[in-house]
Amino acid sequence: MKLTCLLLISRSWHAPCVQNRKYGEITPIFYGDFILSLSNAQGGTSLSTGYVWEEIYGWHNTGNWAGAVPAGLNAQPYQHFESAESKQRLASAIEVSGLAKELTKISVVPATIDQITMVHDSLYIERIRKDSESTFGGDAGDGLSPFGTGAYEIALMAVGGAIAAFDAVASGEVDNAYALVRPPGHHARPETGMGFCIFGNAGIAIKNGMKKFGLKKVAVVDWDVHHGNGTQEIFYADPNVLTISLHQDQLFPPKSGYAKDQGIDAGQGFAINIPLPAGSGNGAYLEALKEIVFPALEKFAPEIIVVCCGFDAAMTDPLGRMIVTASGYREMTRELMKIADKVCGGKIVMTHEGGYSPTYVPFCGLAVIETLANTTTEMKDVLAEFWDALPDQKVQEWQVERIKNIKSQLTFLSDN
Ligand code: ZN
Repeated sequence: MKLTCLLLISRSWHAPCVQNRKYGEITPIFYGDFILSLSNAQGGTSLSTGYVWEEIYGWHNTGNWAGAVPAGLNAQPYQHFESAESKQRLASAIEVSGLAKELTKISVVPATIDQITMVHDSLYIERIRKDSESTFGGDAGDGLSPFGTGAYEIALMAVGGAIAAFDAVASGEVDNAYALVRPPGHHARPETGMGFCIFGNAGIAIKNGMKKFGLKKVAVVDWDVHHGNGTQEIFYADPNVLTISLHQDQLFPPKSGYAKDQGIDAGQGFAINIPLPAGSGNGAYLEALKEIVFPALEKFAPEIIVVCCGFDAAMTDPLGRMIVTASGYREMTRELMKIADKVCGGKIVMTHEGGYSPTYVPFCGLAVIETLANTTTEMKDVLAEFWDALPDQKVQEWQVERIKNIKSQLTFLSDN
């Protein structure tokens, strides 16, 4: 009651200040006003957007590392790059901004073993389960992907989150959805985890959903800064799932994600890789979307589009060398939604992948999810005025040439 009074008073006194605040000028009264403003997202025409987040995702323990190397005498203990921070802070921003009130919370149950074995080898699943019971945890397979006790159950919940989001969109329960899941999944291979990923969240959700709903064609757009090698591998011989990965050229995994890698057997042509040069920004990403991704989606005409959504192509990410901003992610989402409207009734499911800047991922995530929900909040990317204005945000001639060159190699776009 006390709080309500304070907020009402502060709103009448200081409403205009919200747009004019400067660092160091935030007062308790203004703060109340800000909270009021934040808690009322500005909705446009209503889109029903599903949202997955479970507190247990924040409990996935990647241990005592120093970035991407084990801590010890060689490296002062810090935390693993794939700590809970960026994800929990995004979930928190979704609550505090008021955006959560605009979303449809989707409940999650753990994926079943039958669902996990649609993609993964039984021996691998069993190894993860056993290591996860140990006090010392284990590693998903490449020595870069540590996990603590209980990781198996949390990973089942991450897959369950992706499945729940996919099913909610496929069934028409919501128009689109964002699954903020952890651990991530797009590097996980059928027989081993890698790149901080344990199980292939998106891949399993697609396999499960196609069977459940009798879908014939699904497309994956992976804009994480790293190559979506795991998802690609799952569907490499499958002409019913078009995988498209935009990533920084040869960043991770090494020697992976070349434009020439386009699928095998019946799946030949149905894997598209767009290895962008380091330094690519909003303009380069939009150019790649408009030149390659959107024409491919229109030609393939999927029934649903799954986005492996990583925010490690953003400014300040410690693992990527791209310069995409929250505004860039907003625009990419907006443009993708237009294509989705055309080809599949707007059905988009996003599953969270990488993104390791604890302070910037929340702005990028808000931009994407606000756009999906056709709404805005007052929680703004204050750095946009600096970073959106960088000259390299405009697509550069040499980036246009690189994208043209990649496009010219793609049999999917050249075949009749
Ligand atoms: Zn990544």
